[in-house]
Amino acid sequence: MISQRTDTTSLANALRAGSRAALARAITLVESRRADHQAAARELVQALLPQTGSAIRVGITGSPGVGKSTTIDALGMYLVGQGHKVAVLAVDPSSARTGGSILGDKTRMARLSHCEQAFIRPSPSSGTLGGVAAKTREAMLLCEATGFDVILVETVGIGQSETAVCDMTDFFLALMLPGGGDELQGIKKGLVELADMIAINKADGDNIKRANITAADYRGALHLLSPRSEHWHPPVVTYSAISGTGIAELWQKVLDHRKAMIASGEFASRRREQQVKWMWTMLEQRLMARLRTDPSIRTKVKKLETEVAEGRVTPALAAEQLAELLN
Ligand code: GDP
Repeated sequence: MISQRTDTTSLANALRAGSRAALARAITLVESRRADHQAAARELVQALLPQTGSAIRVGITGSPGVGKSTTIDALGMYLVGQGHKVAVLAVDPSSARTGGSILGDKTRMARLSHCEQAFIRPSPSSGTLGGVAAKTREAMLLCEATGFDVILVETVGIGQSETAVCDMTDFFLALMLPGGGDELQGIKKGLVELADMIAINKADGDNIKRANITAADYRGALHLLSPRSEHWHPPVVTYSAISGTGIAELWQKVLDHRKAMIASGEFASRRREQQVKWMWTMLEQRLMARLRTDPSIRTKVKKLETEVAEGRVTPALAAEQLAELLN
């Protein structure tokens, strides 16, 4: 125990000193399933808490092929040029099934991956979305403690992963393609309600006109939705990740949003709400983990499951009996 504490303390100090190697080790600790590692990770994050919270946290979503990695590469390099230290994380719950995450893959970000001022980490592959999101959130805090002042969290529009990323970031950016028939698909999925900005990528060459039309379509559609905040109307911009045109303007919108949110007090209240929501998510996960792993509870769960399935016990009564076991 004493040696674990010493390890945690020296790891925390290495992070505070800005060591990327220590950061990689710390995230591995957070992602580990071993109970002693998890205890050490909790201790580490708690110790580093005073050094967290000041980064600009941006969530980036978009369908495969929209240009997420090209955008993060271009935006990341732009930000490094502005003196920032940029960490790229990812939430990809499907990585647990496929055995590897494509998101946050270093090979997709050719320039940024060789940059000393950047840190790229693929999605943890730990099963449920809740588990993946929790680990990414803690990784984000570790990055902040190491001195990264911009955190980009990448995700694809699968299921609830966008909501999870939205819940851990200050600004949620939805990337879209010009034209293509189902260009307003984001509206149907409810994604646009989450987005703080819609950015139409690939606005270059022959695509420019189509990108502008698509942008106008989104602007029209956004007018019909009630905005997420009364202090911010999500803008729709066009840009080209490949040429870099519009990247600076895109980032300026992130800064404008931050300024408006801080001035209105919404920034602080959003962060507070995110913290409390996170606590409940963690609690739910722990309770569910106990239900699944405690041998005596597991036997009871199996028995009740059968009884509920066969209609001999009501789901409500079974839930109550299981809840009692957690006392
Ligand atoms: P991801 O799957 O969302 O990460 O998309 P990628 O970043 O891998 O990009 C998918 C494809 O779109 C690649 O072939 C990129 O070269 C291309 N692409 C990305 N950004 C742009 C852009 O700004 N303009 C054009 N013309 N192509 C782009």
